Amino acid sequence: ELTVKKAKLWMEALNEKIQKHKEYLSELDQAIGDGDHGVNMARGFQEVMNKLSDADYATPSDLLKDVAMVLMSKVGGASGPLYGTAFLKMAMATKNKEKLTEEDLTLAVEEAIKGLEQRGKAQLKDKTMLDVWIPVHHYMKQNSPIDWGNLEATAKGAMEATKELLALKGRAAYLKERSVGHIDPGSVSSYYLFQTLAETMR
Ligand code: ADP
Ligand code: MG
Ligand code: MG
Repeated sequence: ELTVKKAKLWMEALNEKIQKHKEYLSELDQAIGDGDHGVNMARGFQEVMNKLSDADYATPSDLLKDVAMVLMSKVGGASGPLYGTAFLKMAMATKNKEKLTEEDLTLAVEEAIKGLEQRGKAQLKDKTMLDVWIPVHHYMKQNSPIDWGNLEATAKGAMEATKELLALKGRAAYLKERSVGHIDPGSVSSYYLFQTLAETMR
């Protein structure tokens, strides 16, 4: 179950992962975008940490909502509003619950995907972060109880599989065929998100 305490640990672990791999994320974005994904995410999650460190929350939903607000207001580019939307939808889907079960989390991820699709108009295989979110959600729906090690492996495989895709959304789409052969940066940050959730949950 995801408690407030665990939700905070999740965000701390995700922030650490992003700060550690900030340059890698930007390098990936250099190849098929404008080279700022690591910088955007690192700034955003540093702000998230500042916000969470001096706040108390009654529910994971309240915490996730604050994460969303910070990401929406502090991160420029496509990824800020997209991750902001994903966290806001997760917050809305879990409103008033003190502890989130695996079922709650599965529904939260489902709602996040709907929000991402609505906001970014991308679909599966367009070479975006959705190419990690959708397979992870599929895994969650099919596996109860969730094997968090397998969930992490699913996210990793899905992230790696974006390498062969042709980008149809976001900046990388301007490159057309030249986008093939590079991993999508947002898929890597989304992999970190699910990797750290898995670490927190097992
Ligand atoms: P920007 O492209 O504005 O510089 P970032 O570099 O921070 O923003 O984020 C780029 C990432 O955002 C991409 O790697 C991709 O995963 C994700 N992305 C871009 N456009 C979309 C979209 N329409 N739907 C879903 N994800 C998207
Ligand atoms: Mg960029
Ligand atoms: Mg940018």
